[in-house]
Amino acid sequence: MNTLGELTYYRGRVALRALLKALGIGPGDEVALQAFTCVAVPEGIMAAGARPLYIDIESDGLNMDAADLQRKLTPQTKAIVVQHTFGIPAEMDALMPVASRAGIPVIEDCCHTLESSYRGRAAGTFGLGAFYSFEWGKPVVVGIGGAARLNDEALAARVRSEYSAYLEPPRWKVARLQVQYAAHCILYRPSLFWPVRTLYHRLGSLGAAESNYNPIQAGRIAGDFSWRMAAPLQSRLRRKLGRLAELTRHSREVAAQYQNGLRSPSVRLPTIPGGCDWVPCRFPLRAVDKPSLLRKARAANVELAEWYATPIHPLKREEWPLIHYQPGSCLAAEQRCVEIVTLPTHPTVSRADVRRAVNFINSL
Ligand SMILES: *Cc1c(COP(=O)(O)O)cnc(C)c1O
Repeated sequence: MNTLGELTYYRGRVALRALLKALGIGPGDEVALQAFTCVAVPEGIMAAGARPLYIDIESDGLNMDAADLQRKLTPQTKAIVVQHTFGIPAEMDALMPVASRAGIPVIEDCCHTLESSYRGRAAGTFGLGAFYSFEWGKPVVVGIGGAARLNDEALAARVRSEYSAYLEPPRWKVARLQVQYAAHCILYRPSLFWPVRTLYHRLGSLGAAESNYNPIQAGRIAGDFSWRMAAPLQSRLRRKLGRLAELTRHSREVAAQYQNGLRSPSVRLPTIPGGCDWVPCRFPLRAVDKPSLLRKARAANVELAEWYATPIHPLKREEWPLIHYQPGSCLAAEQRCVEIVTLPTHPTVSRADVRRAVNFINSL
């Protein structure tokens, strides 16, 4: 229906809000989403005026559980956001019938995937629409940014007509993003993961870096939600999407090396739904002892990320009321946060990095 370079927004959450608004969703409505997600998703939902309704993940997986979705839907639920976590396709054959029986539209969260497919059909083509993110850590990085994909003509027309009201972000913001992008290109590699992480968090807390997350302020919609993707980032996105096949091949190769090499009882490898083609955004492992594994990885300087560390990453328990998450409402998601670590599959991961990571984990 549209190409990914066409409807681009300041962030993925801005694209999500644009889709929800075009569906006519607003105050009084609920939007279902999975726990074990990023705060960007409830933020996009709340910026549309709606309330997030958290659905648990599969007892053994990382994506939305169809039975829990069925159980929790209410007459107020007006959309379902289905996330393909780390690029692993959600169980669409179980989820789509629940949505269509209830007559509720599906929006796919494709922030972790551009090329995965579920039983022969591309992720992002099941729902009425999908949204994407191009910030640090996503399959294609342009700085920060998002995009919407539409699979429905009427919805596409509405999203397009509202798109002209989106503004170019302020020039100083774009300049800062360009500097951050340049730094990212130099610094984002497995051997610098831990030192850079420390530095980035320091800069973020000083307000000097565009952090991944806005603290949500009740009743106030940040300016970000009125911006499109900055023009220079749009060109970068189109350029990078042109080289997508190369990125995809690399992340598949890296994941295959992890899959074949890892044989440690201290981690469990991911399970992928049958008949799916997974293009990994990160390679998730369930650790027997996550805190100790992260500590050792840091000491050994092996890139290993902790997200999602909380069901609505990176919000801590005391912040959960801000996004209406009830502790204990999604137990599998809460448990997964305690176990999950992820290995990188991004373009700078070399064969030597993979070997080092595999040897490190196998030697535990
Ligand atoms: C990154 C991400 C988003 C969107 O993030 P933005 O910062 O708004 O671009 C949404 N969902 C998931 C699962 C993500 O990881």
